[in-house]
Amino acid sequence: MEQIGHWIDGKRVSGTSGRVADVMNPATGEVQAQVSLASKAEMDGAIASAAKAQKAWGATNPQKRARVMMALVGLINRDMDKLAEAISREHGKTFPDAKGDVQRGLEVIEFCIGAPHLLKGEFTDSAGPGIDMYSMRQPLGVVAGITPFNFPAMIPLWKMGPALASGNAMILKPSERDPSCPMLLAELCQEAGLPDGILQVINGDKEAVDAILDNDTVQAVGFVGSTPIAQYIYSRATANGKRSQCFGGAKNHMIIMPDADMDLAADALVGAGYGAAGERCMAISVAVPVGDETADRLIEKLVPRIEALKVGPYTAGNDIDFGPVVTAAAKANILRLVESGVAQGAKLVVDGRNFNLQGYENGYFVGPHLFDHVTPDMDIYKTEIFGPVLSTVRAASYEEAIGLAMDHEYGNGTAIFTRDGDAARDFANRINIGMVGINVPIPVPLAYHTFGGWKKSGFGDLNQHGPDAFRFYTRTKTITARWPSGIKEGAAFNFKAMD
Ligand code: NAD
Repeated sequence: MEQIGHWIDGKRVSGTSGRVADVMNPATGEVQAQVSLASKAEMDGAIASAAKAQKAWGATNPQKRARVMMALVGLINRDMDKLAEAISREHGKTFPDAKGDVQRGLEVIEFCIGAPHLLKGEFTDSAGPGIDMYSMRQPLGVVAGITPFNFPAMIPLWKMGPALASGNAMILKPSERDPSCPMLLAELCQEAGLPDGILQVINGDKEAVDAILDNDTVQAVGFVGSTPIAQYIYSRATANGKRSQCFGGAKNHMIIMPDADMDLAADALVGAGYGAAGERCMAISVAVPVGDETADRLIEKLVPRIEALKVGPYTAGNDIDFGPVVTAAAKANILRLVESGVAQGAKLVVDGRNFNLQGYENGYFVGPHLFDHVTPDMDIYKTEIFGPVLSTVRAASYEEAIGLAMDHEYGNGTAIFTRDGDAARDFANRINIGMVGINVPIPVPLAYHTFGGWKKSGFGDLNQHGPDAFRFYTRTKTITARWPSGIKEGAAFNFKAMD
């Protein structure tokens, strides 16, 4: 049985806590590896050693750090298939989708090559007589990234790239469900020239996370995962004086206006609702057609598309549409919520409950489900299902549709499908949600913009990647320098205007 330990000070080491978790093969339900769960002592040791290494790294000029990012881009491209295979094997997503996971993380590393530019401060010449004022962005020291199972390459890279390029050392605590890809990324960072100790990958669960949150050396915590854990980590990290940004769950609505191209909308919904088995924080889980006629046309287009979806293991080839969900518990939770939808009166138009894949009876496959006539009081509407289940809520008007999205507690992403530019502009302006698509179902911003949800989908300040990430991982120091010429004045005891 493969044993996965930690990556500390530039090498793979075995865990010493005596605690491990099983890493499952979601397609077969078999245990394929065991991952160490770090103790507080192991975490504290890794943090102390990162702090020592960070001093030289923080003092390295930004262009040299950027060159490490440049080399890393080449190495990730070289090993793209190997990384994607590690993801598919442990997460279960299809191979092309796993490559997309790596690619979207890689793009953030490409952006980080611009670190010297992003880290430039501001300068005011002659802010007063003989006085210059300037600011510099300095690394925080040791920072932490705590990441979810659903993007084991992309989200660790979102955290690592900006943190390391800014001159910090990072403690990465990836998901214990699919730890192999983050370990491979750490090896690639070393090959790219990152000094030992600057990236420590410490596997673990709550004990490891709490050790990060309570360690005074850790200056900032970036988290992505479910909302209850995001809120918990944000509270504890900030109570301990750390900078923190914690991104949580989602319930993304897509509004379909009567004038929308219904084939385009149906194709978009199927990809965004069922891709990666619905295990994406930017998945569309609620379709909101405006008007009964629109709803009827949409359902008519959706049903054959959903019934034609191919569900299977990633090993079955690239024409599989989605794979299993991540754990037996996730599967049970999805099916429980589907039952609650039926019991609470929603109409199950496509019923995936009896889905069975021959030869993979013990895998965590869930067939696609489509609900119609869902209402806001139902559990399937209120809860993030994180599975291949799309709910349709029929709205009588545009105002009712936008109101639904605005009143939902989550605010990660949303989309509107329409041919009416006025409606689209109004939607983009008024909606209280962080990422908005107009005729685009999964509006994940590119690396040079920023990613972040509102309401219960994001706690803290600043977004992920883009310039915000460089602000999050640095602090600003402002210097007022006076090199007087001519007659020297005496001491001043009041705040002086620069005259
Ligand atoms: P999760 O909250 O269970 O786990 C996330 C991380 O927190 C993992 O590293 C895990 O080990 C750790 N953790 C779990 N329980 C903990 C506890 N009690 N105390 C301390 N740490 C704990 O999330 P997940 O199931 O891995 O990921 C799926 C969730 O992530 C979904 O809700 C999804 O919407 C969300 N997500 C959000 C975004 C975003 O940017 N908003 C992106 C991807 C995923």
